[in-house]
Amino acid sequence: MKKSLLASVSLAMTIAAAPILGAQAQARDYVIHAGHLIDGVNAGERANVSILVHDDQITGVQDGFVTPAGADVVDLSQSTVMPGLIDAHVHLTLDLTKGNAQLQSVTKSGYDETLEGVGNARLTLLAGFTSVRDVGGDTAVVVALKRAQKAGTIPGPRMWVSGSILSPTGGHGDPANGFDPALTKPEWQDGIVDGPDEAVKKVREHFRDGVDLIKIVPSGGVASVGDDPQAQLMTDAEIKAVVETAHTLHLRVAAHAHGAQAIDHASDIGVDSIEHGSFATPASYTIMKSHGTYLVPTLIAGATVVEFAQKHPELLGPSMAEKALAVGPIMAKNLYAAWKAGVKIAFGTDAGVYHHGQNAREFELMAKAGMPVADVLRSSWTGAATLIGESRIGAISPGAFADIVATDKDPMVDVTELQRVRFVMQGGRIVKDHSEPRI
Ligand SMILES: [Zn+2]
Repeated sequence: MKKSLLASVSLAMTIAAAPILGAQAQARDYVIHAGHLIDGVNAGERANVSILVHDDQITGVQDGFVTPAGADVVDLSQSTVMPGLIDAHVHLTLDLTKGNAQLQSVTKSGYDETLEGVGNARLTLLAGFTSVRDVGGDTAVVVALKRAQKAGTIPGPRMWVSGSILSPTGGHGDPANGFDPALTKPEWQDGIVDGPDEAVKKVREHFRDGVDLIKIVPSGGVASVGDDPQAQLMTDAEIKAVVETAHTLHLRVAAHAHGAQAIDHASDIGVDSIEHGSFATPASYTIMKSHGTYLVPTLIAGATVVEFAQKHPELLGPSMAEKALAVGPIMAKNLYAAWKAGVKIAFGTDAGVYHHGQNAREFELMAKAGMPVADVLRSSWTGAATLIGESRIGAISPGAFADIVATDKDPMVDVTELQRVRFVMQGGRIVKDHSEPRI
């Protein structure tokens, strides 16, 4: 009896240790010969550097091309090598380009979202984004995606997920907006909070269900029916209840806010980031700076919804086109003003509003808005990593995860190079080489 129990325990251990697809699957040593290195931490670039990789970590960075015994050489001597990119604002389970937003919400199930999320996670990783913060999707679905990626079951970026957005009834995150009230789905209630007590409870439920951060919508939004982006739709008391409860649980709070009042109040109450920040004023930037609040600009989202309004209004629900034309065009100008004022910027794109895998277009838009390219790049490394709260991403230095990308030409010279990432390593595993997927 005892012996057979031991045998089955040992069989279970063998199964658990079997190699599987994903970041944890490899145990090879690599040395990457980098022609140019932008390490994400220090200013400037280094030429002809060796990056030593053991298992899933970077163990050394040294001058010259060295070849330690037993290490496989990755020849990137003609490339520019950088830390894996980080997008602090994606929605892996959504895709507004695939059809009318309202129609999708009543014709797709959580199973559809899950399977599409698997595909979108792969596209995102192949684009060089080795880490993302997912700031809105069905809680059970995005938590499952995160777990599957972590276990190596599916390829995708490392994920920090908020689950369902916490929204007041009728607010930007209420999926019932614009529908016959008799029409509903059980999961539509997952993020609805009215009053501080409900806010406290939902934060605790989300924590129990496995989220890594909380997303709230203090103002109205664009890709939703009827709510006003300029208006503050959550009360200060509700925002405060969320922030206090989340921070007690060591969860950060991302606040979608377009209107100045919502931006100012949410920053003052202590949210960790303002997403979009469209109608911020100089006073808003002063408040954000004094609290260390990040701005996550999402310029592609602004550009995309304007394009929808002009060329594909059929993709938008009632009121969305009008809101898109009011909000979209001002986002780039505001990013520049925020950067100039010294507000901390974390790279984020709102992937899912546009096609997944095109996240790197944001770099080009940020540079066009007037932000220096070096600062644009840093917003996707130390900026996003610090906002997420994970020090082992966004840097090529000993102890960091071996999340590494490379481009043929130097993105400091042409930032659109990041839209043509030719090499991607994640956790010491090569997932793209010579521009060809290996996953
Ligand atoms: Zn978003």
